[in-house]
Amino acid sequence: MVSIPAIRSKQLFIGGQWVDPLSGKSFATVNPATEETIAELASGDAHDIDRAVTAARKAFEGPWSKMAASERSKLLWKIADLLEKKIDEFALLETLDAGKPISESKAVDMAECLSVLRFYAGLPQTISGSTLPSQGPAFVYTLREPLGVVGAITPWNFPLLLSIWKIAPALAAGNTVVHKPASLTPLTALKFAEICQEAGLPEGVLNVVTGPGSTAGQALVTHPGVDKIAFTGETSTGKSIARDAAETLKKLSLELGGKSPNIVFADADLDAAARGAVNGIFYNAGEVCCAGSRLLVEESVHDALLEKIQGRLKKFTVGDPLDPKTRMGPLISKDHLEKVEGYVRSGTQEGAKLVCGGARPGLPKGWFFTPTMFSGVAPTMKIAREEIFGPVLAAIPFKDGPDAVAKGNDTIYGLSAAVWTRDVKKAHQVARALRAGTVWVNTYNMFDATAPFGGYKQSGFGRELGREALDLYTQLKTVWVDLS
Ligand code: NDP
Repeated sequence: MVSIPAIRSKQLFIGGQWVDPLSGKSFATVNPATEETIAELASGDAHDIDRAVTAARKAFEGPWSKMAASERSKLLWKIADLLEKKIDEFALLETLDAGKPISESKAVDMAECLSVLRFYAGLPQTISGSTLPSQGPAFVYTLREPLGVVGAITPWNFPLLLSIWKIAPALAAGNTVVHKPASLTPLTALKFAEICQEAGLPEGVLNVVTGPGSTAGQALVTHPGVDKIAFTGETSTGKSIARDAAETLKKLSLELGGKSPNIVFADADLDAAARGAVNGIFYNAGEVCCAGSRLLVEESVHDALLEKIQGRLKKFTVGDPLDPKTRMGPLISKDHLEKVEGYVRSGTQEGAKLVCGGARPGLPKGWFFTPTMFSGVAPTMKIAREEIFGPVLAAIPFKDGPDAVAKGNDTIYGLSAAVWTRDVKKAHQVARALRAGTVWVNTYNMFDATAPFGGYKQSGFGRELGREALDLYTQLKTVWVDLS
């Protein structure tokens, strides 16, 4: 039995206080590996969102707006230090709540949270406007100012990491935040609020309201006191948020779904490409927005590559996410598992060949699924077109470079892509031709706090990470001074 780290689970964090939801309602968060309830959470609604937005506005207009940029830096750095001290607790909570392997929760999710917090901790004093060479006797300059209150709405696949991708640049730029975490994985968001409080973040600068997307989330999107919504989640939810945000013309950044092509040419290092293909689709059980779910393989090496992938999958351990040797934990929920199974059925019905996996591994509890690969997938099949968000790889052969690019771009999405080749010229040509926000060459799933990430086409708009993200949390004011 593991002991669950203590969390203020039944309360919301509003205006620096832990408060009960006005409705008095709660909901359960469940461990996807054991199907047991971990904790009961406060179910916030529109009234709680209103309280949180009011607190965030007060903080924005009060102490936060008067704080020196260097002080914001110090606070972000202090928050990172506290998170680092409690990294084991955070990693455990994330694994219990999201089912991801404990080794990855710590070495990837939490480690990247630290690096993103520290990257943005270094930036507040660099946010500046410029002076402009205007015609005529005038002094013209710009001020780069924060937006105000930011609503952050986050998904369940990288619960804390994708929250920090929003909270860190928002605070660095001088905004205040109301965070609505995913209902399936709200625990680390609450724990993070605790360390922000401990670090001395002024009250109201970060507020956390747990509760359903259809009530609390929507209330945040439509609230007239919110200046911007930073959202990560499904493309369909993103569209509904864009419609709801239109009424108050809120600024939006939308990080949405994907169906990313992982393109392997015949001249690639096939062992490296096989490793990249496995990492690309089975990392985090395929519950990754940029998962390399379409494996496009040059015809002459198609069979050889699939054999190498199968060989790797034989050693791929699916099971208890608390076991450090586990490579793949359960899927997030029973509903999601059934959705993935539906896609596997549709792949078989549409005539693709199931090469491996395609079933539950037979563990007594938990929503586990085996790593699954299809070959002979036609680009028109559902498994080649729709985001499955699970451990299902669709292998599609291609003839040559133009065919690879055409097939790679044949999707409504454009989040990421990869190309494997030893030919430098081909690598760059294909990277340019692919319509995706990130292209990896001879690697997959690499991230860094400094490197912007976001989508083309229906994978959304705006960029997270990098200096570029600060543009989405600031606005420019132009000041004219008459010198005549
Ligand atoms: P959802 O779109 O279902 O939910 C995301 C968040 O939005 C949750 O907090 C949810 O609340 C909330 N929400 C739901 N409906 C509304 C609404 N009408 N108004 C406001 N908020 C709402 O996504 P998932 O959590 O299922 O996450 C998986 C998806 O996220 C995948 O499609 C994936 O591709 C995408 N994703 C994109 C990334 C990127 O960077 N582009 C990165 C990671 C994931 P609740 O949980 O209560 O339903």
